[in-house]
Amino acid sequence: METVLIEDESLRDGLQFEKQVFSLENKLQIFNLLRKSGVKRIQVGSFVNPKVVPQMADTESLVQEVIGQDDALVTGLVLNDKGLIRAMNCGLKHISLSLSASDTHSRKNVGKPYDEALLLVSELIKTATAAGISVRAGVMCAFGCVYEGAIPEEKVLKTLACLAETGAVEFNLADTTGMANPRSIRHLVAQALPLLPKDSLSLHLHDTRGVAIANMVSGYEAGARIFDTSAGGLGGCPVVKGAAGNIATEDAVNVFEAMGVSTGIDLEKICEVGRLYESLLARKLPVRMGRVLQSLHECANP
Ligand SMILES: [Zn+2]
Repeated sequence: METVLIEDESLRDGLQFEKQVFSLENKLQIFNLLRKSGVKRIQVGSFVNPKVVPQMADTESLVQEVIGQDDALVTGLVLNDKGLIRAMNCGLKHISLSLSASDTHSRKNVGKPYDEALLLVSELIKTATAAGISVRAGVMCAFGCVYEGAIPEEKVLKTLACLAETGAVEFNLADTTGMANPRSIRHLVAQALPLLPKDSLSLHLHDTRGVAIANMVSGYEAGARIFDTSAGGLGGCPVVKGAAGNIATEDAVNVFEAMGVSTGIDLEKICEVGRLYESLLARKLPVRMGRVLQSLHECANP
């Protein structure tokens, strides 16, 4: 059977974008629901400056609560050397290290131009790998940038080729600004795959323009097998004005399972996660499947 790996990033990409700071208890409740639904990888937070992103200030505490159950299950986002030290100290065995293909986005996000960020991230990946941590190397703004417009494919492919030399075991292309379309996804994925080990490419797709699900399916058809999603459809980028959430995990599970592609995730159970987020945030989220299932239950039990 065809399978995909879904990485839920709602606790990181989702919560970093919310004004409300979630308690450790609430984060644990969400983590446990994600795990029970069958999600195989959960990005629990990022190791960034807590003064800038207070929502992520307790990432170490959360990691320490959940680590040790399954090394492959828990991951975190690192952007600089301080973050890597924190990730190593709390015992994480898998991290994501990313840089932006857009010079302007890179300066705004990490205060460094692209060239410097590439050198830094490459060094950090080598350090992490030497310490026994498996690294997913990511390229943000791979499909365009709100500040710079189109990002040349050659630049993204050159970046991936450099990252492939560092010891990273997975590679991520992120549509940080939601500017990709199904054809641009297909074209870039087809060119990226030959540069990388089999089944090591993942896609991170924001739904800013309403095409993230179409982009995900296009990426799957082109050969990508790992997808970042966010329960409830939470998410955004702090330095991209108007950024919308990721593909809702619930909606991704629905479309893959409907196509006969196994996610290993129980649709009914994963829909409870979006409902919990909606109740904690006291608003409706972009996810569709929670409401679809509720309507189906009402039709079956009028
Ligand atoms: Zn994102």
